[in-house]
Amino acid sequence: MDVLRATTAGFCMGVSLALQKLDTALTLAATTPARSPQGRICTLGPIIHNPQVLAAYEARGVVCVRDTADLRPGDAVIIRAHGIPRQEEEKVRASGAHITDATCPKVKKAQLAIARATRQGAVLLLFGEADHPEVRGLVSYALGPAYVFGSQKELERLILPDRQRYVLASQTTQDRETFAALEEMLRARFADLVVLSTICDATRERQEEARSIASRVDVMVVVGGRQSGNTRRLADVAALSGIETFHVESVDELDAERFTQKSRAGLTAGASTPKSLIDAAQTWLASL
Ligand code: SF4
Repeated sequence: MDVLRATTAGFCMGVSLALQKLDTALTLAATTPARSPQGRICTLGPIIHNPQVLAAYEARGVVCVRDTADLRPGDAVIIRAHGIPRQEEEKVRASGAHITDATCPKVKKAQLAIARATRQGAVLLLFGEADHPEVRGLVSYALGPAYVFGSQKELERLILPDRQRYVLASQTTQDRETFAALEEMLRARFADLVVLSTICDATRERQEEARSIASRVDVMVVVGGRQSGNTRRLADVAALSGIETFHVESVDELDAERFTQKSRAGLTAGASTPKSLIDAAQTWLASL
């Protein structure tokens, strides 16, 4: 089978940076223990949303702590690429743990832009998945009230008084076209709406390439964690092109029988998918 592999598939800058910081902490603990924090090397929640990567770090001794109450003085805490809520960061500092902030620079920029734009009490309207860690972090930087909505329908259901000032922002991995439509809708109602440009180009480029590849193949494979929001949206973008799309975490989940009528496959992957998993999917598809 012919395989068209996306050039944008795999780790984005934010994920690479976060994993580099975690690798550096592990290397320092192994080579210069006297100059490293004496406790465990921890992440607060998963450092990225990919189960294979997380399992590999766990095997190297990295502890994924779910609650700041479980931290001990002397632990080294790597803040994950999605960032954490401001209040949680304060609890980490109070715990006596050492912090390495591996929040993606683009997420950090969005957090600070939200804090600045809402300083005078404007209401934050955040387009994103309410239960996503990045969204919880972004909302915590709003200095006024905040609403999170995941679709135009959800936005329409919000009761927004006319006399308020509003700031519209987005989770970094949301779709630009949808965001533009939401902006247009809100601008028609609120003339002084402030719009923050917080969608990451890595996401847009990945989505555009997925769309373009999907128009030239008869089946799409998207590799990445099921918890990974940007991977799920890539699969949605591919499926919206009207072709059969498989979202898998690894090549083992693919069934050769589903590909018998297909001659050309597109392959892409989320921003937290390691190259080895994409290579394995490419090899498997090419062998059909
Ligand atoms: Fe950062 Fe963009 Fe990667 Fe998200 S997708 S971690 S915002 S570079």
